[in-house]
Amino acid sequence: MKELSYSIQNISEIIGDQDLLRHPHQNIKNLLTDSRKITDASSSIFFTLEGKRDAHQFIDSLYKLGVKSFVITQKDFNTSNFPDANFIWVGNALKAMQKLAKAHRKHFDYPVIGITGSNGKTIVKEWLYQLMVNDQEIIRSPKSYNSQMGVSLSVWQMSNQYNLGIFEAGISTNNEMAVLEEIIQPTIGILTNIGDAHDEGFNSREEKINEKLKLFKNSQIVIINKKYIGESQDFKKNFTWSLTENADLQILDINKKENQTLIKGTCQEKEIEINIPFTSQSSIENAIICWATLLYLGYQQNIIENRMMNLLPVKMRLELKKGINQSDVIDDSYNSDFSSLDIALNFLNQQNQHPTKTLILSDIYQSGIAESELYKNVAHLIKNKGVDKFIGIGKELKKHQSFFKKDSLFFSDTEYFLKRFNWESIYNETILIKGARHFEFERISKKLSLKIHETVLEINLNAIVSNLNHYKGKLKKGVKLMAMVKAFAYGSGSEEIANLLQHNGVDYLSVAYADEGIELREAGITIPIMVLGPEVSSFEAIINYNLEPEIYSLRILKAFADLVSSKNLSKQAIHIKLDTGMHRLGFMEDEVDELLSFLKQNNNVKVKSMFSHLAGSESEKHHNYTQQQIDLFSKITSKFERELGYIFLKHISNTSAITKWPKAQFDMVRLGIGLYGIEGVIEEQHLLANVATLKTTISQIKHLKKGDTVGYGRSGVMLKDGKIATVKIGYADGFPRILGNGKGEMLINNQKVKTIGNICMDMTMLDVSDLEVNTGDDVIVFGEDLSVYDLAKNMETIPYEVITNISQRVKRIYYYE
Ligand SMILES: *Cc1c(COP(=O)(O)O)cnc(C)c1O
Repeated sequence: MKELSYSIQNISEIIGDQDLLRHPHQNIKNLLTDSRKITDASSSIFFTLEGKRDAHQFIDSLYKLGVKSFVITQKDFNTSNFPDANFIWVGNALKAMQKLAKAHRKHFDYPVIGITGSNGKTIVKEWLYQLMVNDQEIIRSPKSYNSQMGVSLSVWQMSNQYNLGIFEAGISTNNEMAVLEEIIQPTIGILTNIGDAHDEGFNSREEKINEKLKLFKNSQIVIINKKYIGESQDFKKNFTWSLTENADLQILDINKKENQTLIKGTCQEKEIEINIPFTSQSSIENAIICWATLLYLGYQQNIIENRMMNLLPVKMRLELKKGINQSDVIDDSYNSDFSSLDIALNFLNQQNQHPTKTLILSDIYQSGIAESELYKNVAHLIKNKGVDKFIGIGKELKKHQSFFKKDSLFFSDTEYFLKRFNWESIYNETILIKGARHFEFERISKKLSLKIHETVLEINLNAIVSNLNHYKGKLKKGVKLMAMVKAFAYGSGSEEIANLLQHNGVDYLSVAYADEGIELREAGITIPIMVLGPEVSSFEAIINYNLEPEIYSLRILKAFADLVSSKNLSKQAIHIKLDTGMHRLGFMEDEVDELLSFLKQNNNVKVKSMFSHLAGSESEKHHNYTQQQIDLFSKITSKFERELGYIFLKHISNTSAITKWPKAQFDMVRLGIGLYGIEGVIEEQHLLANVATLKTTISQIKHLKKGDTVGYGRSGVMLKDGKIATVKIGYADGFPRILGNGKGEMLINNQKVKTIGNICMDMTMLDVSDLEVNTGDDVIVFGEDLSVYDLAKNMETIPYEVITNISQRVKRIYYYE
């Protein structure tokens, strides 16, 4: 069958209310929703989706980069600036994209599996792929693209080269599923586990289940846990499984041992079993769902058994960590297909910390595309994403090396690469490692990454972006955002976080010391950076690195102005700090007249902003005091604006003021701790995403008798026979001594355990008497399920101190899901 292709004219016929097509025959392949993720400009069409910022503003830069086709909503958009572009007007860009995906889906009549549920969608999708890839040409959602937009982008990838589609659908509230159903049109439905996630979007659990089940309205079969079938549902047909009652696949026995689980069941009165290389509850449930699906599809039990035994873990995240020779490593050594390569390259492309971007790639397993076509596309993609150095590993890549840049290196397998590669040739690079599973790229990753002692702070970059957007959503139009990245970005790591924030369009950054600002400039940060409370000795560096000082006294203002004039510079940006009640740094009200007359006489400095800091914005108790601070701030800044004769930015709000004092946004806000998932206004806390997880591992387990003592000073005493676990974190890592002797807690296998004895410098002992634990098990010090708040409470301090006290020797690992 001939491959489907669309001209811009075809697309306008499907979605357009109106159009202006300068090149009606322009071929369209890619749907573009993020102006930073262009792959092939001329064949892309950009959708101006509604977001925090008006997407029409990106058209100019996209046009310059060669994008020629735009779906827009602004009726009076001025098209004359873009004489070579095609425009399609629609009422709503997301709906238009969905309509296009729907129309595209109608061209294919091969089976499509639709997966929904609260948990396990992505794992079930990936495992079904692993289980069937040997005998099917499968197109599936990349990563966990399951949103209203993600589903459209996924289905858009369907083509005649495939014979099976597997797509996941996620919803967070009522009435979202009907649209996804129309786009995916699943012929086979799978419902995974229904948990408590997103409960706030629904009135009841039943309502949530019913909404999800709408995905299967027209499916020929639904694979489902029998317990979710209520009276109200009426499917054409279903294939049930159950742990407790009679079902198409009834589970009789689950037997965990070491790293495996043996699952026995009956199907059509035959006893059958599978063995999976996992033991967690969720893995077992997901494997059963896959088992039921394969049985329904008619797979032979012996083939199922064999493939189940070889299931691989699904690691959907990209990790960014410190590497050898001043480099960073992005680890994506789990799978390798074209769309996940695209996603990983976008992440590589965002990194500015190092001058060189390097890709180490294995042969790609993408069903449905001829080899030479595939590698031509790969080479093209790599070129478009600004990769400076390319290393290909595998026979296929080697065979097609002529498509790649001349100085690229090729190795026939991983072994050969490890032996022959000149590791010294790596210096100051960001290296993306991306390989299909059996290439064992974890061996390469191990060689390139710095050794980490087993305590790590994991930073979820999606969560930071989501928190940033949460606060952006509260800002009035035109209000700017300064992100506070002082103190190593509240412990999270300055360069990586600053880079992420710059990429996501914050207007300003702020650091505590000039040194921190210099590091950011050297790591490729180009947006304005304010230095809080600098000393005179750092002014030279501030000027040289294009940083902007906070000026908090006449003494330092004079010193700065002197330096500026000695360098014959003019209009150097400064930020005036007013003390309206914090009583830390800044000009008091009775000092501002002198300040004003100095500023009037000295043109070599220019006030870029005036700001002040609130002493108790999070608390009701200080409501009146906060109001007074804001009033005084307004009064002084108005006077300065009148008298100086030019305008500057005014800002006073920190995180909790953004939440509680919308009237005090002025021209800019200074977002600090909220970015990192913590709020002073407790009621707001649950709306934020957890950013940091501090993790360690069990080094040893000891069985002790009643009366035995534990640790220095023998202050820990076993009250009965039991066992303790020693973990690799101590007060030198930021787990303070005050948490010893049962005051502190950690999580092992989701269960809370208490400390026993005194905390040591590098180690802590936990009482694990009542728990099934093993050496090497993960231990959570804080994270999603054990909050920094609880830890702070036990330490008699605030979360700010906990997170900024995590020692620098604890390695930070950044990840994207
Ligand atoms: C740290 C800081 C902030 C941010 O405060 P959060 O409570 O973390 O949002 C804002 N302004 C100044 C001057 C700061 O020092």
